[in-house]
Amino acid sequence: STAVAGDQVWELGAFSRISSWEDIAQAARESDQRRANQEQRSPLDGIPISIKANLAVADHPLTAGSRILGAFSNSDHNNHNVGYNAAVVQRLVEDCGAICIGITNMDEFGMGSLGTNTSNSKPTKNPLAYLTSPPPNAPEMTLAEIVKHDPSDILKAHQEQQQQDQTNNNNYAAGGSSCGAAASIAHGSSLIAFGSDTGGSIRLPAAWCGVVGLKPSYGRLSRHGLVSYASSLDTVGFVTPTVDCASMVLEELAADKSIPKDSTSHVYSTTQRNNKPQETITREEPTTHDSSNHPLQGIRIGIPAAFCVEECPDAVQKAWTQGANDLADAGASVVHLSHDIVSPEMIQQSLAAYYVLACAEASSNLARYDGFRYGVAAETAANDTNDDNDERSSLHRQYAATRTTGFGLEVIRRILCGTAVLSSDKFHTHYEGAAKLRALVTRQLHNALETHVDYLLIPTVVSPPPCLDEEAVDSTAMFANDIMTVPISLAGLAAVSVAPDTATVDGVVGLQLVGHRLDEERLLEVARYLA
Ligand code: GLN
Repeated sequence: STAVAGDQVWELGAFSRISSWEDIAQAARESDQRRANQEQRSPLDGIPISIKANLAVADHPLTAGSRILGAFSNSDHNNHNVGYNAAVVQRLVEDCGAICIGITNMDEFGMGSLGTNTSNSKPTKNPLAYLTSPPPNAPEMTLAEIVKHDPSDILKAHQEQQQQDQTNNNNYAAGGSSCGAAASIAHGSSLIAFGSDTGGSIRLPAAWCGVVGLKPSYGRLSRHGLVSYASSLDTVGFVTPTVDCASMVLEELAADKSIPKDSTSHVYSTTQRNNKPQETITREEPTTHDSSNHPLQGIRIGIPAAFCVEECPDAVQKAWTQGANDLADAGASVVHLSHDIVSPEMIQQSLAAYYVLACAEASSNLARYDGFRYGVAAETAANDTNDDNDERSSLHRQYAATRTTGFGLEVIRRILCGTAVLSSDKFHTHYEGAAKLRALVTRQLHNALETHVDYLLIPTVVSPPPCLDEEAVDSTAMFANDIMTVPISLAGLAAVSVAPDTATVDGVVGLQLVGHRLDEERLLEVARYLA
């Protein structure tokens, strides 16, 4: 089915590279053989998965969607394969037998919320909106009507329909930065899509594409093999079609006994540093799981009023109320959390704090792409010497040429912003201020989860996906989109975004269930009742 879907995949812009058909077919044959011999490596053996372009896959180049790492380049010189697998890829592909069918598109270095900073000017389209017209081999006609038609008429009608879709602005954003990951799941071309979430990059596109996105707590999954954006916030997570599917993936990842090669991994910190066995979750079990119709009895779900921001349209409010009702129907008690427990000012200000901290860390992390140690060096013109021809200025010209051509505009903007907030005159006011805010929001959210409730239920997005026509996409509005997701990232908590059923793309919004650090398994158990 992936092969049949191939053309649509390119149209959607979900993938930046597809693995070679020979490799996919070979892996599928080997998996079939294991199945026939009852030697399956795991329940995920033979399952097609996709990997975001900022996670290392041995036989693909690692580009993070950036020209500076050779993305969109046809030159073999730039397109060298990375040669090793990221920890999560190693686990799923090498140990569990899943098949990597390709590398998914992303906002460059993970910077963006719409899937439009892909620097090849080809944003990922939202499959929910784009695939409204039937493909030519599945026309909306009865068989009797089809036989009366010349096939070329059918094709022409399909093309006209597609053109009309385009003029009707049927190109909606898939969300970002894991735009390709969410689109590949919504489209059905892969069943598990790995991505990264720094401030919402898995949850937001999952919500807009109507699928499930898990952002584990910070340190839960190894970041080994992930291209850094903001290291204190970066998490590896995944998108799946259903919550049950997410649970299966988590189970396989949790069974990984290899060294995570990530010093911030909780497994590393417990097994390597203290030489203790892997930490087990010791918090008191809130689930009573009785056998009645109320499986969530004993679980308290918090609805923090602070997340009810002005921008929230009716569609979001409705989905939120419905989600709370669904959990209550399953036996959970719904607790409204007042502004004293989670304050709206704190939530509003976390957005600014996030962008200060993320840009600061990005400016430091991206300094390595200078065209010498890392990155594709731009050619500087031989006569570009000006009057100052000493070695130092020629080095600076080389840096400038590499970075100007290699980085997209949004990345440059963030590096400049990060450098500014780290400069000596702004450090105390901006960087330290943001760090203090992070500590405060973390304290409030942890306190809510420790003292008042077991989980928080909040919207994932402030609106349904915007149209991708130029005028509609404004970058300030893009930042505002993250208000629901960044407080959770700042606090390092776990969250899963689930999209309730909706008839049309312009009504698709998601809900986030937020839980304690390292509590992802139970979080997913509860989230099943939202789906
Ligand atoms: N939209 C946010 C940003 O641009 C979050 C991105 C992410 O989680 N990688 O930073």
